Amino acid sequence: MSGAVVRAGWVDRLADRLREGRLVRIFSVFCGSRWRATILIVCAAVLSACNVGEYKFTEVEGRGGWRAEKERACMDSRAPSATVAEIGSITEEGTCGMDSALQVTALSNGTVVIGPTAKMGCPLAATLESWIAASVQPAAQAKFGSRVVEIKQISAYACRNRNNFGKELSEHAFGNALDISGFKLANGRSISVQGGWKGDAQEQAFMRQVFAGACSRFTTVLAPGSNIMHYNHIHVDLAKLAPDGSPKMCKPSIAGTPATATAVAPEPVPTAADAAVPPTVLPSGVAVPGAD
Ligand SMILES: [Zn+2]
Repeated sequence: MSGAVVRAGWVDRLADRLREGRLVRIFSVFCGSRWRATILIVCAAVLSACNVGEYKFTEVEGRGGWRAEKERACMDSRAPSATVAEIGSITEEGTCGMDSALQVTALSNGTVVIGPTAKMGCPLAATLESWIAASVQPAAQAKFGSRVVEIKQISAYACRNRNNFGKELSEHAFGNALDISGFKLANGRSISVQGGWKGDAQEQAFMRQVFAGACSRFTTVLAPGSNIMHYNHIHVDLAKLAPDGSPKMCKPSIAGTPATATAVAPEPVPTAADAAVPPTVLPSGVAVPGAD
């Protein structure tokens, strides 16, 4: 088996079938006819698009003092940035929110746009910056000879439960998670998580490198192959670890990186004075934010 192959099992196979348009045929078996299956699928899609269940909490959990402590320590040490605005506390239904929310237009001295602009907590923003510097930019330079100028996201702060219908609040509900759907390079190339995860050798190598780097910094990382909800994005969060430091979730398990991926000549390293690049518009109708 190629080292590039992710061992996703039945989850990946089902996702592939959905993408290939076999959904109606599959559901027809259970519904008795194709038109019944079609109606069922359309209703499910409409409910999903409307984010039904987003605010229907079935369980109230405390925000936890550890979140406030981490936020405070991070805010005390962060340097002001023209592309990261402090917007104060957010309090919503249940225990959603943050004591000190940030509105992030770009990170890394304004050189890496977060598109669209995202609300998140200070610890998440700080960890994203360290991940960008240590993993994302080196991987982009090595695999594409260009730096990342934009990280595309499909869900940042959102007051909701896990998977929208789950019982526990998502880390998104505390500004402690980001769903990353793609990367844009300085040379104009865009790599989506959905396409690049099983893309050409360079794209796969880039995705595996940024994924591995994320797993060493965030406490939860879920990429394509981890479950059917993550076919088009990488979820990263800073959920609290157990007292013994576990578990740390990093899925899927990866056999290795493509041996055929070759390095290309890097472009000059940018300076802090580089201006932020305007965000691009995400393709509509493909994003499935809301998992975890
Ligand atoms: Zn997520």
